[in-house]
Amino acid sequence: MPTSEPDRVAGRRAARFAVIDPATGETFDEAPDQQPDELDAVVGRAHRAWHRWRADPAARTTALRVAADAVETAGDDLARLLTREQGKPLAESYAEIARTVARLRYFADLAPRTRRITDGRPVHSEIRWRSLGPVAAIVPWNFPLQLAAAKFAPALAAGNTVVLKPSPLTPLATRLLCSLLATALPEDVLTVVTGSGPLGARLASHPGIRHVTFTGSAPTGRAVAEAAAASLARVTLELGGNDAAVLLDDVEVDRIADRLFWAAFRNCGQVCMAVKRVYAPARLHAEVVEALAQRAKTVVVGAGLDPETQLGPVNNAPQLTRVERIAKQALADGARAAAGGHRLDGPGYFFAPTILTDVPPGSPVVTEEQFGPVLPVLPYRSLDEAVDAANGTGFGLGGSVWGTDLDRAEAVADRLECGTAWINHHAELSLAQPFAGVKTSGVGVAGGPWGLYGNLRPFVVHRPQEP
Ligand code: NAD
Repeated sequence: MPTSEPDRVAGRRAARFAVIDPATGETFDEAPDQQPDELDAVVGRAHRAWHRWRADPAARTTALRVAADAVETAGDDLARLLTREQGKPLAESYAEIARTVARLRYFADLAPRTRRITDGRPVHSEIRWRSLGPVAAIVPWNFPLQLAAAKFAPALAAGNTVVLKPSPLTPLATRLLCSLLATALPEDVLTVVTGSGPLGARLASHPGIRHVTFTGSAPTGRAVAEAAAASLARVTLELGGNDAAVLLDDVEVDRIADRLFWAAFRNCGQVCMAVKRVYAPARLHAEVVEALAQRAKTVVVGAGLDPETQLGPVNNAPQLTRVERIAKQALADGARAAAGGHRLDGPGYFFAPTILTDVPPGSPVVTEEQFGPVLPVLPYRSLDEAVDAANGTGFGLGGSVWGTDLDRAEAVADRLECGTAWINHHAELSLAQPFAGVKTSGVGVAGGPWGLYGNLRPFVVHRPQEP
């Protein structure tokens, strides 16, 4: 592994931990189980590499473009490995790799702008932008490659070096990705560390780290912010969501049902900005439930490597248990499963795609982030009631409004308390847009030029104006 040397530590072979294929529930490979005390050396090397890397923006652009080509060329191996450890259908793995490559290319070509400021005094100020130093990137298991790239591409383009920690549930595709990137990047500019223990906590609090950029759950995000407070490193947190889709009374259910279904069930519902609650006008509620249930009953569920599969397994056993607990609680609270509602027999972490109706609004499937293939459909009587309910959780990542009159839909979308609101679709993101959650969904801004500046600090030079 050229990006780090985790396989051999101080002359001894490092311990390894098991990586499980969620389609079988069986171990299929292992990854190095690095320990927190190894991070001093890793961060030290990242710091030394930073002095060279930050000095030459043109070389960075070239290296990142070459790196993107290297990843694209190895797409087949990477896609199969990603599917094996994450569970997603192969086509979704290819799409994730394409988005990874796109992020590298987008940020390779993005540079900060030097600006002059004049304020009437005989002095002018110039704002230049400086990199920060080693950046810690900590990512979850649902989109291991694309979320890693969303962090390291802007950080590297800005002139920082990066220590990347994937989830212990999905370390292998990230290791392969980083070995491909290492063919184009100088040594120690991007280092991947893997471990089953408290590696992330130590990385977030390490005194040599100048920015901690984290994607994951809100509770872990809080722990990361507390850990980073030790060294007062900058913190960017992209956290969970509980996005609502509000259907208006002029919606054409047949026309939107496929899009709405996949907005909730893509990646087996394990998407931070999946549709996690649907609010339908009472008059259309039964029709919406039926349209979604019919799709949930017929979608092909199976191992991601099977080309027929449309929906893979849940990624891991604890998450499967959580999804089952939330669904069972809803049923105990009085909900009815119009489709699914249970685990699937056989090996692997499969849960039947589930549409729930008659769900009490206080049930955890409405108030918490289920992060799995379970979707509640709730009726509403007035639009104010629907908007209040959509805004009524502690989350604020995304939301969407579905209807025929686009102006009216946009007026409703404008009332959603979240970072991004869509009309007639959900979770379509542009590389050039800012990505920021409100409330417990995040701190700081990623994406587009904002993502680049989030990895830079302003440096201001004042000088007298020429006479
Ligand atoms: P998680 O919070 O359990 O773990 C995320 C990462 O943090 C992993 O690499 C994990 O090993 C590491 N970690 C765990 N404890 C840590 C600690 N104390 N200090 C530092 N790092 C630590 O999240 P998960 O279960 O892997 O992912 C699912 C969550 O991620 C969901 O809530 C989902 O909504 C969220 N998510 C958010 C976005 C977004 O952009 N807003 C995108 C994808 C996923």
